[in-house]
Amino acid sequence: MSRVVLASNNAKKLVELQRILAPLVPDVEVVGLSDVASYDEPAETEATFEGNALLKARACLQATGLPSLADDSGLCVDALNGMPGVLSARWSGVPKDQGGDRANNDLLLKQLGDVPDERRGARFRCAVALCTPDGAEVVELGEMVGRILWAEQGEGGFGYDPLFAAEGYDVSTAELPADEKDRISHRGKALALMAPRVAAALT
Ligand code: IMP
Repeated sequence: MSRVVLASNNAKKLVELQRILAPLVPDVEVVGLSDVASYDEPAETEATFEGNALLKARACLQATGLPSLADDSGLCVDALNGMPGVLSARWSGVPKDQGGDRANNDLLLKQLGDVPDERRGARFRCAVALCTPDGAEVVELGEMVGRILWAEQGEGGFGYDPLFAAEGYDVSTAELPADEKDRISHRGKALALMAPRVAAALT
């Protein structure tokens, strides 16, 4: 069985990636950073999702010598000129382990204030990078278009999910079953495009 490392400490992302890759790439073991010897992870200093995903995948390949995947994602809000974008995780300045997700959502709601429905458009974006020992690098992109709700809805998902409704949905992405979110999500789409690349890299 071939091994691929996902350069992430996020257990939910690892499960999501395993769920998406399993039917598409049989005989692959996807491991996370807790399964490999620890190394200094790079700061996400690039201005684009692609740049940050590549930064993380390259560092993982260099440290582990194994084919390495990394993703970078975020929420781009039309009324905020595409922000928070690559700064989504740290938008409020509150660290994740101190309630960052809640603070981010509160700040976003306040920033949008009474911006009307027709200007509450937003999209999640995701870049997934694969770096392999032969020096090849590929990036795939995914997007989920939707709008920012007026209050949090739902308990599932993570991050900004309770405030985001995908196009064609009345409910938030925090109210969707996991497999339905995978099917329409930015990360699900980018990973679905990446899966055959992973298969090709491992054969
Ligand atoms: P990353 O882990 O550096 O990619 O940071 C992504 C950040 O963007 C997360 O901390 C969330 O705030 C936000 N984000 C990305 N994808 C999603 C999603 O599917 N739902 C909700 N928030 C997301």
